[in-house]
Amino acid sequence: MTRLVVLGATGSIGRQTLDVANRLDLEVEAISARSGSDGLLALVGVYPDARVGVAEPTPTERGKLVEALGDRVMFGPEALEDLAATPESTVVNGTVGVAGLPASVAALEAGNRLALANKESLVSGGDVVLRALGRGGGMLLPVDSEHSAIHQCLVGEPATSVRRLILSASGGPFCGSAFAEIESATVAEALDHPTWKMGPRISIDSATLMNKAFEVIEAHHLFGIDYDRIDVVVHPQSIVHSLVEFVDGSLKAHLGEPDMRVPIQYAITAPDRTAGSLPPFDLIGRTLSFESPNREVFRCLDLGYAAGRDGGSAPAVLNAADEIAVLSFLERRIAFGSIPEIVERTLDEVDHRALTSVEDVLDIDTEARSVARDLVGRSC
Ligand code: MG
Repeated sequence: MTRLVVLGATGSIGRQTLDVANRLDLEVEAISARSGSDGLLALVGVYPDARVGVAEPTPTERGKLVEALGDRVMFGPEALEDLAATPESTVVNGTVGVAGLPASVAALEAGNRLALANKESLVSGGDVVLRALGRGGGMLLPVDSEHSAIHQCLVGEPATSVRRLILSASGGPFCGSAFAEIESATVAEALDHPTWKMGPRISIDSATLMNKAFEVIEAHHLFGIDYDRIDVVVHPQSIVHSLVEFVDGSLKAHLGEPDMRVPIQYAITAPDRTAGSLPPFDLIGRTLSFESPNREVFRCLDLGYAAGRDGGSAPAVLNAADEIAVLSFLERRIAFGSIPEIVERTLDEVDHRALTSVEDVLDIDTEARSVARDLVGRSC
């Protein structure tokens, strides 16, 4: 029986994970959320035996939750680590932000299966996560559709057979646009993703292609492949979720409707497959097209490759700076076209170093955010 710990249960990945759990009749052992919102209170009623973690409750929320749940509820960032270390469980980390890193490390150190949707764990803390995986003997399964696709293409294939990984990108709402057309794009335009419905940060990151840059870095860590052998292709239909090319010239691709419940389910059941909820896929009448990303317009992609190649603290700085830049754009403090500039200048200003612990990652994250905030302040 799979015992599920769902971190970030009220978010998009968390809700879809609970959908999958209900359909597969899995035991939900614990759930967590950032705040004690109404969304969390509703879930607490659905899973009356689940332990509950709340990372950043307000004093009022804390009082209400203690009254309703007694010692079933735990508070603070440590609560997520505690839940992630639940013995013999499958931990779905659907939290957003670098605050999700300690829970990823705790899950792997406890030898659990970690179904990872928290991007920052591998982007900012890749080396630290891989060490925890080695120490704890847990399993790391990607939830992101692209990495799930590559993982599935690689099943049964030795590393020496792989020529390159090809990540597909929808291209976001500005696919095919010139820089002049999107430089001053509005928040509503940038949030309008054509194929995936997602949270605001990841939607903006998809519009700048920074999300794809993060996925390149994650792929490097997940599959142990050099950056020179990871390519990105724009595929606006989002049906081919990614591909692997092998040394003999064969390609394997993973196809399906863009529905996150499919890769979430696979991350929980792999290598087994169980019945899903989607109807049979109809190939007839589909047109699939592929093109190169425009690296001049979408500068974040190459900033990501460069930070990945630099290694050490650079990817963590990339992520922290991007988070501040995206937030500043959403608050209408900077233009859409200024996002890569803030990221690039932050990378220039923060000293490069090696990251060996969770604390190192959190420290550099704080430092890079503060530098990025200053840069935003000066540019306004
Ligand atoms: Mg993705």
